Amino acid sequence: MSEQFDYIVVGSGSAGSVLAARLSEDPSTRVLLLEAGPPDRSFWIHLPIGYGKTMWSTKYNWCFHTDPDPNMNGRRIYWPRGKTLGGSSSINGLIYIRGQREDYDHWAALGNKGWSYDQVLPYFVRSERNQRGPSAFHGGTGPLCVSNIDARNELIEAFIDGAGECGIPRTEDFNGAMQEGAGYYQLTTWKGWRCSTAKAYLAPARGRNNLRIATRAQATGILIKNGRAVGVRYRQHGRDLEAKCNAEVLLAAGAIQSPQLLQLSGIGPVDLLRNFGIPVVADLPGVGENLQDHLQVRLIYECTKPITTNDALNSWIGRIRLGLEWLLLRSGPLAVGINQGGCFTRAIPSESTTPDIQFHVATLSADMAGGAVHPYSGFTLSVCQLRPESRGSVRIRSTNPFEPPSIQPNYLSTDLDRRTTVAALRVARSIAASPAMQPYVKREVKPGPEADDDASLLEFARNNGATIFHPSGTCRMGSDAMAVVDERLRVHGVQGLRVIDCSVMPTLVSGNTNAPAIMMAEKAVDMIRADASVG
Ligand SMILES: Cc1cc2nc3c(=O)[nH]c(=O)nc-3n(C[C@H](O)[C@H](O)[C@H](O)COP(=O)(O)OP(=O)(O)OC[C@H]3O[C@@H](n4cnc5c(N)ncnc54)[C@H](O)[C@@H]3O)c2cc1C
Repeated sequence: MSEQFDYIVVGSGSAGSVLAARLSEDPSTRVLLLEAGPPDRSFWIHLPIGYGKTMWSTKYNWCFHTDPDPNMNGRRIYWPRGKTLGGSSSINGLIYIRGQREDYDHWAALGNKGWSYDQVLPYFVRSERNQRGPSAFHGGTGPLCVSNIDARNELIEAFIDGAGECGIPRTEDFNGAMQEGAGYYQLTTWKGWRCSTAKAYLAPARGRNNLRIATRAQATGILIKNGRAVGVRYRQHGRDLEAKCNAEVLLAAGAIQSPQLLQLSGIGPVDLLRNFGIPVVADLPGVGENLQDHLQVRLIYECTKPITTNDALNSWIGRIRLGLEWLLLRSGPLAVGINQGGCFTRAIPSESTTPDIQFHVATLSADMAGGAVHPYSGFTLSVCQLRPESRGSVRIRSTNPFEPPSIQPNYLSTDLDRRTTVAALRVARSIAASPAMQPYVKREVKPGPEADDDASLLEFARNNGATIFHPSGTCRMGSDAMAVVDERLRVHGVQGLRVIDCSVMPTLVSGNTNAPAIMMAEKAVDMIRADASVG
């Protein structure tokens, strides 16, 4: 195949894999997929609990760090991002969540036609193969496998009952008519294996003659001629190469690297570009701005009983038992990853009509997500605010495409964010203090009983808060001066160029971001095809 294509997709992550697979369904459409990382060959990618390994892998993970964040007492925070086929869907925590109806209705109310919940629901459904089968809210035959956590866990049951005692009802489905409630998550797994977008979408498409998948191929710039994207420059195996396209370049490099590539290509805030002597193709001040993320703050508890995953992982016999459980039954902690239990509720009910916080409940504890487990029986209640007002930025530091950009999250920079985070910690404590949970709580290790006023809880969040890995919004959709793409995800002021990944979210959705990224790509495919047919 020559280096001339119809579409070039940059990045094979949650969104990019969908784009490449769907567009190449038409045998007359030639698609090139460029992925900076290697193929997804590691066993740890495919084993759900392997998350703890890929979290630190420099081979499969970009391992970014933020700049020192003044609101987090100057800490630099670790930001993992997938760097392999499947992107972050190959290293993520597997939780299948879509967000709230109101998130998408809000996008539409901002002027983004076509993005209301009723308009995006068909794309969630189209992508999904839910173990529970098809229903009004779920798909049964799509590529993305979504499974139940079938085995009931004593600690998670106590958490759900405890939430119930605090007025939060049990729910069987966070992605149905209503998100609010406590229950077990559904996971993007199938029969005990991870279902990344590389598995779900790319694997069935790989044999197609009209799809070329180039791994270890990092895009270094977008080729633009007379205001139109005509190709991509990339480096593979130490060689600088160019690929050309007749139709469009589709940027799906994620919320850090899509804005980085635009800036490197002369599309971004004019002052930033001039600082680095980059010729301006389009002055779009919003490229890299509007960065949003969910800040997780984790409460650690010592458990009264040796029933936690810490106990199993801390002994040879326990590890063998876990291994056998996975090998023979494809179940147990190795098959369900880290966070089994969840909860969406309102920490400040007077200010929000829908859940404003989310819990990730793990039957293990560690100093940081994906770290080595503590030597004692431990579990974790992680809380995060769902719709933060804080905004950060992603900006290039140089013209070197291999140098990571500056990432400034500006967590906790608004009063609402600080109050919601403190209130979330208090909700977690009240669930831990419930009659159902109390028999399992030996002590609160972190924040610890000495942190009992708002100021010390906030200080705990500043000293310990970390990303829950949902950076978004850095090339946001809209029609105002700070918007980067329009409602059809076309970059303003440049022809033949779209951004399709978490960076186009105008506001972060109220939940995890893998399923929304997949939905956006499914929807984009229809828009791309429709626009191509009208010429
Ligand atoms: C550790 C972790 C845990 C998470 N847990 C969950 C969870 O449990 N549930 C959930 O819903 N979400 C979770 N997320 C978030 C979710 O996975 C991401 O939001 C989502 O995968 C992002 O999709 P994307 O398409 O925007 O970007 P990505 O999936 O990150 O894809 C970007 C791709 O582009 C490639 N790329 C970047 N630059 C270039 C370049 N210049 N040239 C070529 N290729 C390039 C990258 O290597 C990557 O493959 C987690 C994320 C992480 C990192």
